[in-house]
Amino acid sequence: MNKHEHADAVVIGGGAIGTAVAYFLAKSGIKATLVERGEFPWGSSKRCDGHVATYDSEPGYFSRFCNAGLTMFPEVAKDLSVDFHFEPEGLGLLVDNEDDLEQAYKNYEGKLKEGSPVSFWDQKELRENEPNVADRVLACINFEGDAKLNPMKLAFGLAHKAQELGATLHTHTSVVGIDTQENSVKAVRTTSGTIFTKNVINACGVWAPSISALVGIDVPIRPRQGQILVTERVQSLVGKNYAEFGYLAAKKGKKRLGVTPEMDNYGVAFVTEPTEAGTVLIGSSRRFVGMNAAPEIKILRCIAQRAEYFFPAYKNARVIRSYAGLRPATPDGKPIISPTKVKGFFVAAGHEGNGIGLSLITGRLISELLNNKEPLFDIAPLHLDRFSSSR
Ligand SMILES: Cc1cc2nc3c(=O)[nH]c(=O)nc-3n(C[C@H](O)[C@H](O)[C@H](O)COP(=O)(O)OP(=O)(O)OC[C@H]3O[C@@H](n4cnc5c(N)ncnc54)[C@H](O)[C@@H]3O)c2cc1C
Repeated sequence: MNKHEHADAVVIGGGAIGTAVAYFLAKSGIKATLVERGEFPWGSSKRCDGHVATYDSEPGYFSRFCNAGLTMFPEVAKDLSVDFHFEPEGLGLLVDNEDDLEQAYKNYEGKLKEGSPVSFWDQKELRENEPNVADRVLACINFEGDAKLNPMKLAFGLAHKAQELGATLHTHTSVVGIDTQENSVKAVRTTSGTIFTKNVINACGVWAPSISALVGIDVPIRPRQGQILVTERVQSLVGKNYAEFGYLAAKKGKKRLGVTPEMDNYGVAFVTEPTEAGTVLIGSSRRFVGMNAAPEIKILRCIAQRAEYFFPAYKNARVIRSYAGLRPATPDGKPIISPTKVKGFFVAAGHEGNGIGLSLITGRLISELLNNKEPLFDIAPLHLDRFSSSR
């Protein structure tokens, strides 16, 4: 970096969100600079699954938002020179007990009304389509449009396309200060120099609170740890992506029936993703344990047990590695995509377990905000002001 640079906008954070913001800003003709203290990506976006999910929200605003985010991927996949393995192969939500069945069916009907491509398999149809599923599983809601992708390749591809479109990229550069004058953004100070700008987008995920604090803004995001197991290459164990219906309750931190006290305590709910490499990702857990991103055997064991409960054949699959990541969680589980009381300072963070799937729509909405354009989607419910502490 030159000691002093100028940009129309500085995006801080090169995860899925920041790279998508930089891409859409560059596409709209805004001279953007993307600053990342590591590589693309460095934080949560390299320690997660790759679901572009609509299954994990109940019918309503957030479900429609996730759907709108999903529909943007095919076009962007064509636009990037990096193949990020976008595969809309669908996801099945497994229902394992009578208590959940009624609610699951209600959700299915609600999703149908919203126009989601969903179908319902009873136990017989499920077994015909997925022979390895446990006999105890009663039904499955198929989210036929849900997809998976490689999050690392997505962020890398977005950053480099942004650069091709005129954005400046700075890796291994940390933001250490933001200067304001008369309550407006003036410059971003980094470990490599100063960038003069009128606009800053805070896309720092779990680190968003410390960046916002530089301009005196409180952003209520907490790291919510999740752990993942990776199996060796296994053939034909599961046909596609699956999750358990209890995943929705675990996400909301609700008590669940039919899980061990340990699983309940660690927020373990089954989700699985066969990767293009032939390995299978198995998750996951949910805990608030600060910035601790170290996998732990006691939790990985619960995750493995839960996977065997739904697919007994997982018993024979060897685990080759494990990892943990931090979901940037807001108090209501929805992201913050918002201007703030400091003119020119925007927040695009707090996507919890949906930041990969919501990356493109977030990038586009921030670009529309900066360009004073009518937003693609109503973002009033995602404004920072909804949290009273930040008013
Ligand atoms: C186990 C697990 C599974 C998940 N599965 C899925 C899934 O299947 N689908 C899905 O959509 N989401 C999933 N998520 C959630 C997803 O990982 C996050 O929502 C998403 O990665 C957040 O992206 P981000 O760009 O906001 O944050 P990050 O990827 O963390 O990016 C923030 C960046 O800011 C940088 N930064 C911080 N401070 C500074 C500074 N001072 N200067 C410069 N740079 C800075 C960091 O280095 C980092 O690269 C999962 C998460 C976990 C933990």
